[in-house]
Amino acid sequence: MVDFRDTVEDAAWRAEVQSFVDEHLPDQLQADAYFAGSLGGPHRGPMSADQRREAMASWREAVKNRGWIAPAWPKEFGGADMKPMQQFIMREVFSEAQAPLMSVPDVASTIMVHGSDELKKRYLPGFIEGKERWCQGYSEPGSGSDLASVQTRAVRDGDDFVVNGQKIWTSGAQVADMMFALVRTDPDAPKHRGITYLLLDMKSPGISVRPLAQMTGAREFNEVFFEDVHVPASNAVGEINRGWYVGATHLDFERSSIGNAVGFKLRLEKLFNRVKEERDAESGRTTVNHMPSVRTALADRWIEADVARSFSNRIITLQNRGVIANYEASVQKLFSSEFHQRLSNTAVKALGLYATIYDEDDARVPDRAMWGTYYLATVAETIGAGTSEIQRNVIATRGLGLPRG
Ligand SMILES: Cc1cc2nc3c(=O)[nH]c(=O)nc-3n(C[C@H](O)[C@H](O)[C@H](O)COP(=O)(O)OP(=O)(O)OC[C@H]3O[C@@H](n4cnc5c(N)ncnc54)[C@H](O)[C@@H]3O)c2cc1C
Repeated sequence: MVDFRDTVEDAAWRAEVQSFVDEHLPDQLQADAYFAGSLGGPHRGPMSADQRREAMASWREAVKNRGWIAPAWPKEFGGADMKPMQQFIMREVFSEAQAPLMSVPDVASTIMVHGSDELKKRYLPGFIEGKERWCQGYSEPGSGSDLASVQTRAVRDGDDFVVNGQKIWTSGAQVADMMFALVRTDPDAPKHRGITYLLLDMKSPGISVRPLAQMTGAREFNEVFFEDVHVPASNAVGEINRGWYVGATHLDFERSSIGNAVGFKLRLEKLFNRVKEERDAESGRTTVNHMPSVRTALADRWIEADVARSFSNRIITLQNRGVIANYEASVQKLFSSEFHQRLSNTAVKALGLYATIYDEDDARVPDRAMWGTYYLATVAETIGAGTSEIQRNVIATRGLGLPRG
C-alpha cells in the first residue's frame, strides 16, 4: 500500500519550511497570488506593479539566502544540495502558502548537466541572481512537433557560428537577454544527429523580434529572425551535433514539473467555496443544486487532483533514486495539462456566463475575471512543451514499448 504521509524527518522539514514562509513571505504577496499572471495572462492583482516588484525582490532574496532558488544544486553554485523529497515538500509548502516559487529555469539545469565548466562558471551564478531573462528557441514555422526537422542554420566561421533562420512561438523573446536554441550544424547528417544546442545573446547584431498577440490579450509570443548572427562556438552546450539529446534532457525537465498538484487543489477549493456562495435569486438555493452534471464534474475534478498528486509522487520517487523522468514526465505533463483544462471548463460551467467575461472591472464577473482568464489560458497548456498527441506517442513507444506508427 502506498503511504503518502510524511516520515518523522519529512514532517520536521515541512515544519522548518513553514516557519521560513511565516517569517519571510510578505503578506501582500500572499493576498496577491491569486491574481498573478502565472497562466500567461497580464498581472491582475490588487498591488501596483512597483509594490509587487518590491515584495517579490524581498521574497526572492530570502529564498536565495537559504540556497533554495536552485535547491538541488551543489552549495558551490549557490544551491542547497537538497534531496528531491525535500524539494517536493518545500514546493508543497510554498504552494499551500501561495508563495511565488523562485526557481531557476530548466535551461539552467540543462547547463548544469551538459555544460562545459566555462559555461557553468559564466551562466549559473546569473540564474541564482535572476538578473538575466531567457527564452526558448526551439519551434520554427515548419518544425513544432517534428522538432528534429529544425532548419535554422549555424555555420562554423573560425571560433564562431554564423546563424541564419527563424524561430516562432518564442515566449518572452521580447524581454529576453539570452536564448537557448536548437540549430542545424550539419545538414547532411541524419536529422537527429546534425543539431546543436546553442546559447545566444539576444542583443547580438542581426537578431530581430516580432511579437504575436494571444487570445488572452497578452503579447508574450514572438517570431525571432536571425540574419548573420555571430555566436561563439564555445556557447554550444554539450557536443556539437549532439544537441538533440541535450534538448531532450531539457524537455524532460520541462515536462516533469511536479509543483502543480497542490496548486490544483487550492484552485479547486476556491472554486468549491465560490460555488457554495452562488445562489439562485428566486429560490435562494445554491445554484449548483440545479446542475447535477456540474456537481458530478466537481467530484471528478477532486478525484483527478488526487491522481495528479500521485503522478507527482511517482516522479519524485524516481528523482530520489537519481533517475531523470522520461516517459513518466510525459504522463505527468499530459494528465496535468488536460486536467487543468477540465478544471477551468468545470469552473466556467459552475459559475455561469459572467465567469466567461474577460473584464476584471465588471462587478458581475466573479473573482476579477480569473476564471475566464484561466479558461482561455489553459488552452495553450496541451500544446506548449509538446502537444498531447506527442506525449501519447512518447508514452506508447518509450513507456509501453509499442512500435512507432
Ligand atoms: C503557451 C505556449 C508556449 C510556447 N512557448 C514556446 C517557446 O518558448 N519556444 C518554442 O520554441 N516554442 C514554444 N511553443 C511552441 C510549441 O512548442 C509548439 O506549438 C508545439 O510543439 C506544437 O508545434 P506546432 O505548433 O508547430 O504544431 P504542429 O506540430 O504543426 O502540430 C499540429 C497538430 O498535429 C498534431 N501532430 C503533429 N505531429 C503528430 C504526430 N506525429 N502524431 C500525432 N499528432 C501529431 C499535433 O498534436 C497538433 O495537434 C509554445 C507553445 C505554446 C502553446
